[in-house]
Amino acid sequence: MIGAAFVYSSMPEAPRSFMTTVAKPRAIIAGGSLGGLLVGNLLHRAGWDVEIYERVAGSLDGRGAGLVTHPEQREIIWQSGVSRDAPLGIWVDRRIVLDRFGSVIGELPLRQLFTGWSRLYHLFHAVFPRSRYHDGIGIVNAEQRSDGVTAVFADGSRRDADLLIAADGVRSTLRAQLAPEVQPEYAGYVAWRGLAEESAFSAATHRSIFEEFAFSLPEREQMIGYPVAGARDDITPGKRRYNFVWYRPAAEATELKRLCTDATGKVHDGAIPPPLIRPEIIAETRAVARVNLSPQFAEVVERTKEPFFQPIYDVRSPRLVFGRVVLLGDSAFVARPHCGMGVAKAAGDARALVDALTASNGGDVTRALHQYEAARVPFGMGVVQHARHLGAYYQAEQRTPEERASAERYRDPFAVIRDTAIPFTL
Ligand SMILES: Cc1cc2nc3c(=O)[nH]c(=O)nc-3n(C[C@H](O)[C@H](O)[C@H](O)COP(=O)(O)OP(=O)(O)OC[C@H]3O[C@@H](n4cnc5c(N)ncnc54)[C@H](O)[C@@H]3O)c2cc1C
Repeated sequence: MIGAAFVYSSMPEAPRSFMTTVAKPRAIIAGGSLGGLLVGNLLHRAGWDVEIYERVAGSLDGRGAGLVTHPEQREIIWQSGVSRDAPLGIWVDRRIVLDRFGSVIGELPLRQLFTGWSRLYHLFHAVFPRSRYHDGIGIVNAEQRSDGVTAVFADGSRRDADLLIAADGVRSTLRAQLAPEVQPEYAGYVAWRGLAEESAFSAATHRSIFEEFAFSLPEREQMIGYPVAGARDDITPGKRRYNFVWYRPAAEATELKRLCTDATGKVHDGAIPPPLIRPEIIAETRAVARVNLSPQFAEVVERTKEPFFQPIYDVRSPRLVFGRVVLLGDSAFVARPHCGMGVAKAAGDARALVDALTASNGGDVTRALHQYEAARVPFGMGVVQHARHLGAYYQAEQRTPEERASAERYRDPFAVIRDTAIPFTL
């Protein structure tokens, strides 16, 4: 515990007896999604005074879909206060690849636990003090002080802290202020996503793929699917869901623009909100699924009530620390989803930051932040690069010899099932 013994870097040398009376160090977190809640819980348990501010009003429930988990990530989830007895999701024992006609053409035994975004959100929220989570309040600015930082809120109010953690996602407001040169780079393809109710499956498709991590790999595309909990985190057979992610090339100037055009003709820059995706685009996607995918996956797409797509982006921030503001999770790095490392990386960031701050007990916050940066920049760069290799084959165009070589490597279905959603280590 840091608790009362914490000393700030700017504080003059103080006698030990004085130090024990110093108030808890205060952290403000921008963003109350998975990254913000994880670091909030770890810091709270390390003795910090923590407040989370989330721009969106109300629960974030219903966002996101399925997630792969990795062993280290589960360890950090438990360290953040979640009970080891709380079921996280559904175990799957193998991966299979289907051909265009639905036959299994390859398999790989591999036991993995799949969870859902909402499941993790509920678990993290339940262990964070309710009165310290403020929704509907965005942070618009950070002002550095000699001994800390001031967060400026959308309503003009201000609050001082020793540390401001930007866990505000891929389009981070704080990163835009502090490192405007770091911009999301469009990868050249989109991911269609959705959740099909288990009860909507035909018996044959259920038997064939429901308990599997299944792949369908048409030319230049990738469809994956796996079971996740159903409504209210229910993992009872019959009440679960099947999560799919289908990567398809979409050139930025033409196809992406067309997909992001709503019914009024407005083109949404970067990404279109799912409810505004035109019904004819969804109908067309279902028709393509019948032609390109194995019949099992065509059925999954057909029976998913509200399929939606997300353009895929890379984000790389060579710096994570700006005075007393620190980037974490997707505001720092976004790797394409192929390695399934988004939450695992946010958890690793949170663990590294809290460890560095805890080790500096009685020491220097600024030094701790730089230790965090030195550890997490190489990891972030590495995981983004690894995911770029995995995704090169689906890009609308391969621009470099390296991308062409990666695309060639991942034409091979066996390389794809071997390397997808496997924990990344440096
Ligand atoms: C198709 C796809 C599949 C994926 N699959 C996986 C997977 O299998 N495994 C995995 O681990 N990850 C996966 N991910 C990634 C994962 O969802 C994220 O990496 C992870 O949730 C970490 O996000 P975060 O908390 O840093 O940011 P976000 O979840 O984006 O949260 C940022 C939060 O900050 C809030 N906010 C924004 N601006 C402000 C502001 N100014 N003030 C206050 N609040 C603000 C936002 O409202 C939001 O709630 C996938 C992503 C995609 C797109």
